Amino acid sequence: MKKEIADPNYKGTVVEHDVKDYVSPDDFVVSIIDRHVEKSKVNIKNSPIIISGGYGVGSKENFQLLYDLANVLGAEVGASRAAVDAGYAEHERQIGQTGVTVRPKLYIACGISGQIQHIAGMQESSLIISINNDPGAPINAIADYVITGDIEKVIPKLIKYYKKNSK
Ligand SMILES: Cc1cc2nc3c(=O)[nH]c(=O)nc-3n(C[C@H](O)[C@H](O)[C@H](O)COP(=O)(O)OP(=O)(O)OC[C@H]3O[C@@H](n4cnc5c(N)ncnc54)[C@H](O)[C@@H]3O)c2cc1C
Repeated sequence: MKKEIADPNYKGTVVEHDVKDYVSPDDFVVSIIDRHVEKSKVNIKNSPIIISGGYGVGSKENFQLLYDLANVLGAEVGASRAAVDAGYAEHERQIGQTGVTVRPKLYIACGISGQIQHIAGMQESSLIISINNDPGAPINAIADYVITGDIEKVIPKLIKYYKKNSK
């Protein structure tokens, strides 16, 4: 979470609650026997560039286009919840309210409409590029650059021209 600036004039009150007033010992029927935290294979939070795909990417096979672009740019691949639910990408790549919050230098949203639950997880990116075939997609309102078109046509062109113009 982003650290808020302290307000010296804010006056809070401390309310002490006794847990016994709300739950009885019978409510604690689960005991933790062991904890096992699996290490994430995806380092999405620390990536300076994220290529993120939504339901508009259309299929798991089409997501390969995003990995191709990510390879060229040295980026990670993220996803919207709709893309994760459709099986296009793994859950650990989900960005948004119920996924991870990211603040990369560059966020390229491909086929993502821009619902509030997704925006919540990426709106503080330094630069946002939206690739969408709907010029009225809500994400375009927060994007710095908008490319209107199908990702199947736009991404191969981005790869081609990036390779052509970079050493
Ligand atoms: C409690 C709750 C929590 C949620 N948490 C999250 C969360 O953490 N993260 C999250 O992302 N969502 C979350 N959601 C879901 C969210 O509300 C949206 O449903 C979801 O973000 C939509 O994903 P999308 O933009 O990929 O899909 P859609 O809304 O279906 O948008 C697809 C977009 O792709 C475009 N498109 C279609 N075809 C192409 C093409 N060929 N080329 C280019 N563009 C194309 C369309 O114009 C459209 O803009 C949550 C919802 C709830 C209720």
